[in-house]
Amino acid sequence: MSRTALATIHLGALRHNLARIRERASGARVMAVVKADGYGHGLERVARALDEADAFGVASIADGLRLRAAGHRQRIVVLSGPDAPADLAELRRLGLEAVIHHDSQIEWLVADRDGRPLRVWLKLDTGMHRLGFAPERAVEVHARLRALPAVHPEIALMTHFAASDEFDNALTAQQIARFADATRGLAGERALANSAGVLGWPQAHGDWVRVGGLLYGLSVVEGKCGADFGFRPAMTLSTRLIAVNRIRKGERVGYAATWEAPEDMPLGVAAIGYGDGYPRSAAAGTPVLVGEHRAAIVGRVSMDLVTIDLREVPAARVGDAVTLWGPALPVETVAAHAGTISYELTCGVTRRVLFAEDEG
Ligand SMILES: *Cc1c(COP(=O)(O)O)cnc(C)c1O
Repeated sequence: MSRTALATIHLGALRHNLARIRERASGARVMAVVKADGYGHGLERVARALDEADAFGVASIADGLRLRAAGHRQRIVVLSGPDAPADLAELRRLGLEAVIHHDSQIEWLVADRDGRPLRVWLKLDTGMHRLGFAPERAVEVHARLRALPAVHPEIALMTHFAASDEFDNALTAQQIARFADATRGLAGERALANSAGVLGWPQAHGDWVRVGGLLYGLSVVEGKCGADFGFRPAMTLSTRLIAVNRIRKGERVGYAATWEAPEDMPLGVAAIGYGDGYPRSAAAGTPVLVGEHRAAIVGRVSMDLVTIDLREVPAARVGDAVTLWGPALPVETVAAHAGTISYELTCGVTRRVLFAEDEG
């Protein structure tokens, strides 16, 4: 028997979201960030729907290869750059661009004897303290890159925000100021904003916005979902009820018997679990939809199954559709119940889930 868990990807939502980003960040070009298999939506599918994007951002050369193999001719930026000297030849062969964030990468470029210049994005660490050169080194590193025959003379300048999802966080204002100071007078396009930067920091839209979450209709702003900002969720995760049982008051449900029935009641069992990427951390009370009706998970999420309190949906039957997240039930809500963010949930849908697409 085939599994019934289904991830439906809404191509119309992806296109709508790109158009909304262009409205919000008018004047900036859009790098569609499609790392982690398009945040779990499927790299090729997403790139096809977003073919109007000005560039794609990926986390690996392998993803750049997949995009080239699918026929995409846009600029493609590998966001962590080369990991090893041999990557330079691959980047050139595929016409990919590289983020340069570390001296080791510059050493590889210095030693590189290939005559064809590689396009690079110089990354400054203005406060995230993950990847990037210290701002006070911007002028020196920029000059060094400019002098290398292995590097294309148009060098883009970028930084990444640590807390742009908090629209009044002083760190972001500081990062914007540090970036402006460090790059003053340097030639090159500027790229600062991620999704939350697009929403909350218009002064940082620059020449390029690098947007992932919002393309998929996802928000990381506390207490808000993508729809609150006019974006449409691009994934519905659904399955079916495979059992409807009655349990008695005092009986316990699931592994470790963590949930006790407060009264005689109907209990549904749906064919989805952490083996499909539905989070095991989703606590009792996490909402689901049975048909159109809201219900809630009870007991532990197991590998293949979840159990559902059907007291509010007494007419539920075996075979009824169960929606875990989608336009009618924000994945952000589910993430909050599971102690995580929406991005982790869509990225975590596993390969045993069937994928489909529609124009919605
Ligand atoms: C993932 C990533 C982004 C996109 O972030 P979102 O919050 O999904 O918009 C932008 N820039 C860099 C460097 C990234 O790694």
